[in-house]
Amino acid sequence: MQNAHLLPLNDLPPDGRRLTVADASLWDGNLREFHMDCRVEQPLKIELHILPVEDGYLVRGELTGSVILPCNRCAEDVHIRLDSRFEEFEEVPAGDDADAGQPGDSHILLDKGVPMLDLAALSWEEFVLALPMTPLCREDCKGLCPQCGANLNAAACHCVRDEGDPRLAALRGLSLQKDWTEKK
Ligand SMILES: [Zn+2]
Ligand SMILES: [Zn+2]
Repeated sequence: MQNAHLLPLNDLPPDGRRLTVADASLWDGNLREFHMDCRVEQPLKIELHILPVEDGYLVRGELTGSVILPCNRCAEDVHIRLDSRFEEFEEVPAGDDADAGQPGDSHILLDKGVPMLDLAALSWEEFVLALPMTPLCREDCKGLCPQCGANLNAAACHCVRDEGDPRLAALRGLSLQKDWTEKK
């Protein structure tokens, strides 16, 4: 199954090869396997340009599509447009043919001496890099009340939150530290 995503890189023309990677199974399998709470909204697509250079290949690409992720604070859907460009040098691994499947930075492995680009690994890595670290439904999302679970963007709840204010916690920390120093 994986072999379907290995692209032979021998006999590339000097000005390289362009191709479009849009096979949904490249991403869907990993999304399920890693139980990622991420739904693909507009199909993911990578436009690739692979250029042969000394000792390897220059891989340029642009990833587009859109996904839905849960907001980091309130867990509501966040629609995220992906449009990221990347450029990577892919080194041809050293070593004999028996040593295929080489780990490390390179997405190239050797199959009987033929360098093969692992499109599945490359696509997944670029996809993960393109995702926001902390998706937010909006910049000032108020999140959920830690006590009653109400979505505070919709309405304020009636819980008393004297412990929850991080600014107060920081002040308490400071005064504690001061007392402690004075006692010494
Ligand atoms: Zn939110
Ligand atoms: Zn509450």
